[in-house]
Amino acid sequence: MAMRVGIIGAGPSGMAQLRAFESARQKGADIPDITCFEKQSDWGGQWNSSWRTGLDASGEAVHSSMYRHLWSNGPKECLEFADYTFDEHFGRPISSYPPREVLFDYISGRVAKSDVRKYVRFNTVARWVSYDEKAEEFTVVVEDLANQKTETHVFDKLVVSVGHFSFPNVPQFDGIDSFPGEVLHAHDFRGAERFAGKDLLLIGSSYSAEDIGMQAHKMGARSVTFSYRSAPMGFDWPETAVERPLVTRFEGRTAHFSDGTTGEFDAVILCTGYLHKYPFLPEELSLKSRNVLYPGNLYKGVAWQDNANLFYLGAQDQYFTFNMFDAQAWFARDVMLGRIELPAEADRAADIQQWLDRQAALPDHDSEADFQTDYVRELISLTDYPEFDLDSVCSLFKQWMRDKEEDILGYRDNIHRSVMTGTMAARHHTRWLNAMDDSLQRYLNGPGQDIDTGNLAVLAQESQLSAK
Ligand code: FAD
Ligand code: NAP
Repeated sequence: MAMRVGIIGAGPSGMAQLRAFESARQKGADIPDITCFEKQSDWGGQWNSSWRTGLDASGEAVHSSMYRHLWSNGPKECLEFADYTFDEHFGRPISSYPPREVLFDYISGRVAKSDVRKYVRFNTVARWVSYDEKAEEFTVVVEDLANQKTETHVFDKLVVSVGHFSFPNVPQFDGIDSFPGEVLHAHDFRGAERFAGKDLLLIGSSYSAEDIGMQAHKMGARSVTFSYRSAPMGFDWPETAVERPLVTRFEGRTAHFSDGTTGEFDAVILCTGYLHKYPFLPEELSLKSRNVLYPGNLYKGVAWQDNANLFYLGAQDQYFTFNMFDAQAWFARDVMLGRIELPAEADRAADIQQWLDRQAALPDHDSEADFQTDYVRELISLTDYPEFDLDSVCSLFKQWMRDKEEDILGYRDNIHRSVMTGTMAARHHTRWLNAMDDSLQRYLNGPGQDIDTGNLAVLAQESQLSAK
């Protein structure tokens, strides 16, 4: 009987796993029986987003935390697939920071080309997994959401690729229950238009806070206040944005901050990150981690230390994304196919510990980029995933961080050269600050109403001033 491989989740990581097996098949390998369960009606994971919040049409928790006007927050040149370039997909140079729909098109294009959709059971959610030590088999109970049927499937190997930016981390703050305005978590944020003319408080100091805050500014928010727990982001914010230390309590519309200052707000968005949560896994198979570059208990960041038949993809915090998921999927594939022999448990533990020690000593963001570059380099060296110039990608991450420091509203207008093809990105027809239509069609076909007429934030402030 052929080996049976189950994959839970068809986001970029699960798609990478499908692609990894397909690549082996094209090179003449016998590949296992593969079944991938995806609870949504399409693949793409976070990139397959919709207006919905709360529950989706099947009554399942909405997965994607993405929103209107979400543009890539890192250069596309850092995430390009080594075996499917932007040039190949779009047939012409595009800009370095495309919007969500454009990246969704790119990742879908690669897998659509390789006939792997047949492996995916859409609208099918994994409900529960158990492992039989003796038979060395996983039993996966899934629900076919369209037909409301429960099914049981048995696998020799299981890949968990469900992401970890979907279950919001929602801390409590004194007095927030009686805050008279809107309070939401970034997971449920879908667009900043309604904050035009409003005073907005964002709690958190990472990517969601930064991007939602700047989007609110773009859409004409009167003021944006960031409240940080550990450290301020320290960007050169526009005049209407400010950083404060952590909120200690709310009193009506007033937020009190730990430095003794206060502010009055119309709305609060908790940009407080996400939980690693795997409700379909028993405790002994379930990863417990914060959002870090190297979660413990995963050999090479992929193979579950306590059960070498279980693999996690994309479980780490991410500088690298799509091509790192590829590197992981190629590694997991080769372990499953027996091309890579896992070392003994103690050696695996020592290897994990080495990475954890290095992680614990990382002094700054540049060294975090170095860390993940080395991690991806090691994975790629172990498989036939096409090698590429990882040092150049790492330099680009560092350049990107400098660019953000220099111009937080303008960094997405910069262009970079592809490490894979040498193609220089095209400058986008509209500056990010003025781009009010993030559709694929508008992105590819021209500026239309996005023409540079000045940004809405400035217009909104001007109209408020003239109204006073
Ligand atoms: P996901 O994309 O989360 O996909 C997981 C899939 O698993 C989903 O399709 C989900 O429906 C499915 N699933 C979950 N549970 C089950 C279940 N029980 N049964 C069946 N299926 C299930 N990365 C970038 O490179 N650039 C960006 O600009 C960028 N912006 C981001 C913005 C936001 C707001 C967020 C949250 C993330 C962003 N990311 C970005 C990172 C993003 O997480 C990765 O690009 C990528 O989507 C991760 O892929 P994944 O497959 O690991 O997880
Ligand atoms: P994150 O990077 O994990 O950051 C979580 C933030 O929440 C941290 O600042 C953390 O502060 C803060 N926090 C946690 N608990 C808190 C508490 N009790 N009180 C106050 N603050 C608390 O999560 P994220 O910012 O949501 O980003 C998630 C992913 O989405 C990233 O991969 C990011 O790249 C992506 N993203 C991309 C875009 C885009 O523009 N394309 C936009 C948004 C998000 P500490 O530092 O103190 O821990």
